[in-house]
Amino acid sequence: MEKFQKNNLKKIIELLNSSDNNIIVLGAGMSVESGIPTFRGENGLWKKYGTPKMDSYKKFLNNPEEWWNNEINMKMDKYIYELRHKINVAKPHDGHFIISKLEKLGIIKGVITQNIDNLDHKAGIKNLIEIHGNRTKFRCIECEKTFDRNEIIIKKPPKNCLNCNGIVKFDTVMFGEPIPKTKLDKAKQLFNQSKVILAIGTSATVRPISGLFWIAEKEGKKIIDINPNETNLKEISTHNLKINAKRFLEILEKEITK
Ligand SMILES: [Zn+2]
Repeated sequence: MEKFQKNNLKKIIELLNSSDNNIIVLGAGMSVESGIPTFRGENGLWKKYGTPKMDSYKKFLNNPEEWWNNEINMKMDKYIYELRHKINVAKPHDGHFIISKLEKLGIIKGVITQNIDNLDHKAGIKNLIEIHGNRTKFRCIECEKTFDRNEIIIKKPPKNCLNCNGIVKFDTVMFGEPIPKTKLDKAKQLFNQSKVILAIGTSATVRPISGLFWIAEKEGKKIIDINPNETNLKEISTHNLKINAKRFLEILEKEITK
């Protein structure tokens, strides 16, 4: 690591040590190192398959039955096949387990993940908000209750919600679908309580989470941007480090638990 980066890292660790409320916001850069491709970016799925129409939620609401039939008959955008396959075989990497350890040690108070792959949960992170949903769950669009999916391949549409008889969909937030209110409220609460926000592997371009960073900065919270690429957080971050998620977390664990 070059000298500039080393100095920055030292300052980041001092900042985390001096605050009693650090949170982490995770983006696709975290999952990449578990073999899950991103949508955007150089090696992203959309570069390979083209950018899809961002209207999947509208399509679902127009005709949920047809939507489920297409799903069962595997009629879906090509990029989705690849994404699902990669998610199904992915395992958490050391970085995921380090976050879980930092949470147990009280260094991290909570994690908001934009990833849907269930890897953060698998690694044992407890105070976890999966803002874009979880691939292994269903969710009722009315009461927002979630249900475990018992099988990876769907053979018949899920029944209506046992709680309120509402329509049930995958928990994963579709394009054009609002973030479930209960989850967004929890994420806002975590941001509110925090003093230092560690953004790892997120380009901070996807709303509404991206907006929460700007509000946080206005409120005087410190934002640390960890990403091998330049991100939108450049203007508002206190510190940034151009480094992969896993490598950063390995160094952080070593330095902060000394
Ligand atoms: Zn319901």
